[in-house]
Amino acid sequence: MRDKFIYRNGVVTEDGKVDLEERGFQFGDGIYEVIEVREGKLLFFAQHFARLKRSCAAIQIEHGLQEETFKAQLKELLTKNSCDDGMVYIQLTRGTYPRDHAFPQPSGAPGVYAYTVQKDFANMWSLPATAVLADDIRWLRCDIKSLNLLGSVLAKQKAAEAGADEAILHREGIVTEGSSTNVFIVKNGYLQTHPASHLILSGVTRSLVLKIAADEGIPVLEKAFTTEELFSADEVFFTATTQRIRPILSIDGTTISTEPGPVTEVLQKGMQTLLQKELQER
Ligand SMILES: *Cc1c(COP(=O)(O)O)cnc(C)c1O
Repeated sequence: MRDKFIYRNGVVTEDGKVDLEERGFQFGDGIYEVIEVREGKLLFFAQHFARLKRSCAAIQIEHGLQEETFKAQLKELLTKNSCDDGMVYIQLTRGTYPRDHAFPQPSGAPGVYAYTVQKDFANMWSLPATAVLADDIRWLRCDIKSLNLLGSVLAKQKAAEAGADEAILHREGIVTEGSSTNVFIVKNGYLQTHPASHLILSGVTRSLVLKIAADEGIPVLEKAFTTEELFSADEVFFTATTQRIRPILSIDGTTISTEPGPVTEVLQKGMQTLLQKELQER
């Protein structure tokens, strides 16, 4: 459950009501971000803000946000909610206007919202997970962190019904990513993941993992792989902000490995180091 105070268009308030003609509500006409909060700090804020800007630009929303001002307002929200460990959810929409699919003319103010959830994610990081395969029925601009999540919702439900933690999506046998995570395999020492194209959301955690791999001298292939390659991989894991690097031990009931693999563990250690650095900095 969210904490009491929310952020709406520059104001921290307890009033969380949204109008029926909010375009995010009616059309999913907007984008979002999830940022982890640790010791009252917004982890990797710069990277998340950069992606927020990219998502807005891709759907022509003029957000008008200044990075430092916005960060200060989110910090105020964290303080008001006494939220020091958990996450901030940010949603940015084209605003509230009479219903019409086309953009409002003249274009007006967007809707900017945020709330926090106090929660200790620490016991979830790196926890081994299970997955199912699901068809990737999403649209062709998965690089935008859009509010339109039906494709992901249906896939995740399939995982939930199978008692699995995540759904690994594929387009006709080519693995793209997870329903809300990026998927990596390790084969013969090589780390492989789908390239950052229109078919996946390029995660902040994904980028951090690629950076750690480079630092550790682990060879990387940013190249799509098939479901057969997935099943014959030595190691499989997924990444996302509140879950970090989670080993996938089985897919559709087939065992991939009985314990987290050595490359996965090197990357998890590297992630801990990066986090410690991030916590000391700001
Ligand atoms: C948010 C998201 C991710 C993970 O991104 P992070 O920045 O690492 O949290 C991966 N895939 C999809 C589809 C997402 O929405």
